[in-house]
Amino acid sequence: MSDPDCLFCKIVAGDIAADIVAESDTAIAFRDVNPQAPTHVLVIPREHYQNVGEVAAAGDVDAGDLFRLCSEVAATEGIAESGYRLVANTGAQAHQTVFHAHVHVLGGRPMGWPPG
Ligand code: AMP
Repeated sequence: MSDPDCLFCKIVAGDIAADIVAESDTAIAFRDVNPQAPTHVLVIPREHYQNVGEVAAAGDVDAGDLFRLCSEVAATEGIAESGYRLVANTGAQAHQTVFHAHVHVLGGRPMGWPPG
């Protein structure tokens, strides 16, 4: 299922350009247009879900596939050893701005904790 008004569905469809770095049957990974770290890649399911909770609730293979692609991206970006952070902002208070499920893969610099 896709949403014709969804920005990330348009990237999946190839209607909006993105710098795609990895793909699987059910997910794609592309560079964030406003990077917050030397590596900042978004991993999204090809199907439209509002957030990662919906992906998990759907009960298909997408949730595991998302994490596998995150891990693959970390390896190919060279940040698997130094460390990286996966972030899935969920809902307005957590600063979700695009309501198509996505996981941020961030790395290449030290990161503070707790997050802002
Ligand atoms: P979030 O705030 O967690 O919903 O993250 C949405 C992310 O999508 C932000 O980090 C944006 O910079 C990023 N973003 C928005 N539009 C695009 C686009 N066309 N291509 C790549 N990344 C985008």
